[in-house]
Amino acid sequence: MNKNITCNEVKGNLYEYINGEIKDNVFKTDIENHLQACADCRLHMERTKNTLNLLNIITPPPLSQGFLKSVTREIEKISPKKSLEKDR
Ligand SMILES: [Zn+2]
Repeated sequence: MNKNITCNEVKGNLYEYINGEIKDNVFKTDIENHLQACADCRLHMERTKNTLNLLNIITPPPLSQGFLKSVTREIEKISPKKSLEKDR
């Protein structure tokens, strides 16, 4: 199958792709092929993966104060806006 898929299609399905939620093998192969050919989408996937890893690391099963704090801290790191949820 040699259906060309667009960057938008790849980027729009990255979460599903990384999580192994794409059941359509043809589509999955299309994404893989596109990622090999497209540096931009590869970069985008790396970023998405990093974000997911971050979420996995800082998401312990029970939600705790520590969780909220670390999420807030991570968001502050990423976001230019510093005034999200500071310690009150
Ligand atoms: Zn692309």
